[in-house]
Amino acid sequence: MKILRKLYSYYYRWRYKKYTAVRCEELPEKLRNGKCYYLMDAGFAWGLSFKCPCGCGELVNLNLVGSRPVWNASILDGELNITPSIWRNAGCKSHFWIVGGEIKWVI
Ligand SMILES: [Zn+2]
Repeated sequence: MKILRKLYSYYYRWRYKKYTAVRCEELPEKLRNGKCYYLMDAGFAWGLSFKCPCGCGELVNLNLVGSRPVWNASILDGELNITPSIWRNAGCKSHFWIVGGEIKWVI
């Protein structure tokens, strides 16, 4: 099964190498692949949620305000940019950047 998971991960990374931002007030029950949910409250972005781009299916939640760790996200020409990089400290331990909507893996 490990080999299947690895193959799926390659597929997922290829299929969803670009994430598109979706503004929402509330997170939908089922998150779509390749979508980055930009959580808004009264026109103010406070969080980001998306499925991990490695294909593990885990939810990644980022704070845009409040206490550390906190990320800076912007949408320029419709493309999402997040700084600093995202490094999951649990599960798959994926480490990546999102630049111009594209997932840039840190090897
Ligand atoms: Zn993952």
